[in-house]
Amino acid sequence: MKRIPKFTKTIPLLLLTWLCIFPGNGRANGCLPASSNPPADPIRVLLLGGGASHDFDTWYKNADVETLEKGGFAEVTYTDDPESILDLLADMDVLYLSNNQPIADPATRKAIFDFAASGKGLILGHAALWYNWEDWPEYNIHLASGGSRGHDRFGAFDVTVLDKNHPVTEGLPPTFNLKDELYYFKVDPDGPGIKVLAEASTSETGPFPSLFVIKHPDTRIVGIALGHDGASHNLDTYQKLLRNAVSWVAGK
Ligand SMILES: [Zn+2]
Repeated sequence: MKRIPKFTKTIPLLLLTWLCIFPGNGRANGCLPASSNPPADPIRVLLLGGGASHDFDTWYKNADVETLEKGGFAEVTYTDDPESILDLLADMDVLYLSNNQPIADPATRKAIFDFAASGKGLILGHAALWYNWEDWPEYNIHLASGGSRGHDRFGAFDVTVLDKNHPVTEGLPPTFNLKDELYYFKVDPDGPGIKVLAEASTSETGPFPSLFVIKHPDTRIVGIALGHDGASHNLDTYQKLLRNAVSWVAGK
């Protein structure tokens, strides 16, 4: 968030006041009422991507950042370097992990857990719901409350919204169809558990959670299993649920 110096706020206000007193040009309504509700500060989001099998630059660094920054809703810092997030976390409201690569540094792992423990929100998107961490089982147990070890071949499926009253599903259609990888997300009984907001089934098995809340004891975490490529990221429905999720985990 860039702070606006006080004087740059004051000058337009004085000008507006002057125009109100001296509307000029014989116009009856020379003054529009000033808004009493200036726009809220954008939500500060740190988005980590990078790794195999996905075009992170196109669908996360470009598409998701554009989705989140539209209208001043959020200010997103994107990186595909897991080592860089340690220094950035302190200034963030939300950490959005979508990475398909390990976070190896112990201090960074601890900082992510501390971030959650301090009540800051997390989004775990697509590849970040995989079992990526051979040597970091705590990630899947405590932050994701489970994970995926497989998915359907990329293709079309229906997602059904189960909880229409949750802020994260606000404005979503009851069912929507998209092309994506249907993740076989399984809940780990040692984790805090999840509340499924939307789910999808294959022809043979499921249902599996597509959109869910992880019941972390200290903060809000949303899992979004969708998001392999543009067939999801470009959908209005995906963009809506992503903005809803960021807003909700940020406590807005
Ligand atoms: Zn994928």
